[in-house]
Amino acid sequence: MSEYTYDLLVIGSGPAGQKGAIAAAKLGKRVAVVDRREMTGGVCVHTGMIPSKTLREAILYLSGFRQRTFYGKDYVVSDKISARDLAHRVQRVVEREVEVVHNQLRRNGVTSLVGTARFVDSHSVEVTPESSQPVRASAEHLLIACGTRSTCAPDIPLDGQCIFDADQLPEVNELPRELIVVGAGVIGLEYASMLTALDIKVTIIDQRPTLLDFVDREMIEALSYHMRRRGATFRLGETVTRVERDAQGRVVAHLESGKRVHGGALLYTVGRQANTDLLDLGAAGLGADPRGRILVNENFQTSVPHIYAAGDVIGFPSLASTSSEQGRLASGHMFGVNHRHVVPELLPYGIYTVPEISMVGRTEQQLTAARVPYEIGIAKYDELAKGQILGDETGLLKLLFDPESLKLLGAHAIGDGAAELIHIAQAVLAFGGTIEYFRDTVFNYPTLAEAYKVAALAGLNRL
Ligand SMILES: Cc1cc2nc3c(=O)[nH]c(=O)nc-3n(C[C@H](O)[C@H](O)[C@H](O)COP(=O)(O)OP(=O)(O)OC[C@H]3O[C@@H](n4cnc5c(N)ncnc54)[C@H](O)[C@@H]3O)c2cc1C
Repeated sequence: MSEYTYDLLVIGSGPAGQKGAIAAAKLGKRVAVVDRREMTGGVCVHTGMIPSKTLREAILYLSGFRQRTFYGKDYVVSDKISARDLAHRVQRVVEREVEVVHNQLRRNGVTSLVGTARFVDSHSVEVTPESSQPVRASAEHLLIACGTRSTCAPDIPLDGQCIFDADQLPEVNELPRELIVVGAGVIGLEYASMLTALDIKVTIIDQRPTLLDFVDREMIEALSYHMRRRGATFRLGETVTRVERDAQGRVVAHLESGKRVHGGALLYTVGRQANTDLLDLGAAGLGADPRGRILVNENFQTSVPHIYAAGDVIGFPSLASTSSEQGRLASGHMFGVNHRHVVPELLPYGIYTVPEISMVGRTEQQLTAARVPYEIGIAKYDELAKGQILGDETGLLKLLFDPESLKLLGAHAIGDGAAELIHIAQAVLAFGGTIEYFRDTVFNYPTLAEAYKVAALAGLNRL
């Protein structure tokens, strides 16, 4: 009989915690997950991936955005779209997702401990519920999956309604006519671009001179072009020094260059901070970097080998997709099951801007820097029957391949369904395939997947 209450205790019920807990439970281990009652499912379900992607779908539907090619740029499904209309769909999806997480944990026999955890020593935690006495629990192994929260500079007077961060945005009651977005990372650009579909005038400010440097430049140029056409203004290479409300209640962002940007509201999406400050890491013999992130080895073990960490708390790439996998791998390693690790080059990236961007493998910039010769094959959605049917004039698929061996090196897509489409390239890359595969394969017709054939033929013609 073990001296501990559990074989594994997981702190946090986001994707990393859930998948880590369930993987251990499936091995017959006694597992508990700690989280606050209102946060079951993590940031992912409540303020991150699920609300933002549901909001995007609601906006694209109600604004009639996808139909405008046919019915004119002023076409709308609903004349007046309120924040409440959008929140309605978000709430439905969030409630359902919370239920799914609860059911999955329950079905797998995982105990849910409600409250905030902090370490007492390297094997025990104290769990403090909101309105009752703390309880203690111990475990042979622990998995820290406590995620992150938005951070804010002291000069940004967040009020949750006119000046808000990404965690607060799903709760905003009124949509502004003009929005200032500070921070042009993935989250800032996703929100900025979806709000332009509602004809909200968006000004995006970032101190970096370029957008999303890890993404293929052609995709970024296309995104900037389409956002500008919908009225977005980019102020790159500009630093916000101060934000205030003027006498009329409008928001003013003061820039280091002396400019002022005015808007009805401001979304602040600069950086996130790991939630390790609540954990009393020192009591377990652990530390964190200045942003609260925990360092782990390739098996997700911290410097205390029976304590693992996974998900956003360990930093890049900080995605729900990778966090889930890290949680599963961590718990496999702690109980002696060696799962195959994902090769980083095969990780897909989905950026849910409007239009959507997705990629797998290397970019032209990376190949050039590494002096790897490559050739390009491109298919535009408007060359495809499906592209015409959908009315997507923005879409593009670009394949990068070795001109000698014809092996696929990378794939980059922008447009409707890009994040789904990219998995075909991911499979071909994983199996070391050549672009001849796309030339010689029959795809359903009409589909966007046909873009692979068109791009492969275009690429081969260039040789
Ligand atoms: C706006 C936005 C959009 C996003 N869109 C996408 C997307 O499209 N695709 C994608 O793959 N990813 C997306 N992400 C990222 C994704 O949401 C995160 O990568 C993912 O949620 C991280 O999972 P996690 O398990 O590390 O932790 P989280 O989901 O952050 O959950 C951590 C949990 O730990 C709990 N916790 C913290 N401290 C304690 C404590 N002391 N005691 C008990 N519980 C504690 C918290 O309450 C929380 O529930 C998005 C994020 C944001 C913010």
